[in-house]
Amino acid sequence: MLQTKSVAALVGVDFAAIFLTQRPGRLGIIDLGHFMKAAILTSPRPIAQRPLRIDETTRPKLKPGHVLLRVRACGVCRTDLHIAEGELAPQHRGMIPGHQIVGEVIDGSTKEMPVGARVGVSWIGGIDGTCPYCQRGEENLCDHPTFTGYSVPGGYAEYTLARADFVFPLPGALDDLHAAPLLCAGIIGFRSLRVAGVKRGERVGLFGFGASAHLAISVLQAWKCEVYVSTRGESHRILAAAMGATWVGSETENPPVELDRAITFAPAGDVVVAALASLRKGGVVAINAIHLDRIPQFDYDRLLWGERQIRSVANMTRTDARDFLALAAEISLKPKVTVFPLDQANEALLAVKNDAIDGAAVIVP
Ligand SMILES: [Zn+2]
Ligand SMILES: [Zn+2]
Repeated sequence: MLQTKSVAALVGVDFAAIFLTQRPGRLGIIDLGHFMKAAILTSPRPIAQRPLRIDETTRPKLKPGHVLLRVRACGVCRTDLHIAEGELAPQHRGMIPGHQIVGEVIDGSTKEMPVGARVGVSWIGGIDGTCPYCQRGEENLCDHPTFTGYSVPGGYAEYTLARADFVFPLPGALDDLHAAPLLCAGIIGFRSLRVAGVKRGERVGLFGFGASAHLAISVLQAWKCEVYVSTRGESHRILAAAMGATWVGSETENPPVELDRAITFAPAGDVVVAALASLRKGGVVAINAIHLDRIPQFDYDRLLWGERQIRSVANMTRTDARDFLALAAEISLKPKVTVFPLDQANEALLAVKNDAIDGAAVIVP
């Protein structure tokens, strides 16, 4: 379709327009009014080599059971970086990443979601609804899930298509820029706290203090927990202290007390072992990372014995999303954000890779 458009550009807009008028049924796809700007993954490679091409592409067409959205903002997630760099194997050529989308319904409206309604789209873009996991109510583990910005095009674009039953109405209290990072970093961070089994008033460690952790700390404070933060980067440590962490240390320092729960955010197995070493007996480490470099050998007798547990956190359910967004509105959760224009999508991902920004990066088309 891009090639078709290039031909149209070569021969001139007027010619293409005449062509369209004459044969609209067959040549509708080259209607010049139906293109959009997007960041397109050509072939995965290190982010410093700019794997995303900013270009015009075809605007998605409405499909049954979906809503067409004009993208107002799209949060940047570390998973986007893994997709761009190829740690998550490409599923389709020319993918448009982005799965923390704040969009406005422009077509496919329903009674609950009228035209103009503001909705959020997250990483889970759909499930089959029939596999054993869906039947058990564990839709985050579905055998045939759809992932926004990975198996279907996402929000690094001016428009996107989303399954109508997988978009979430956004509370009016949350503006576009501050709602976007809640949609994956926030929801999956919240799920991590659930997977770790955090109870009110407990001692909880956050290992890493990027986009997800800096949202989780506010939830933990609402639950009256003591929060211990180990993280690399002086600015992350300053932010954690400013946000009320009980204790803050570098990534190699262990908290001064035994923790009930720990959440790790870095894609590094060494961090998981460090978190494990800080747990009391019966404590849980939840790994909030879709990709880890490796899990190093560790001393079972000292680190895991005593009914300590390591759990991964896979995706999210719609219940997690609804519960978290309601809580976020209730506690006026406001992430720290840095805005990048769509043209700077590669730079936004590079900043995430280098821990160069505090809080979350958000792309605005
Ligand atoms: Zn399923
Ligand atoms: Zn994500």
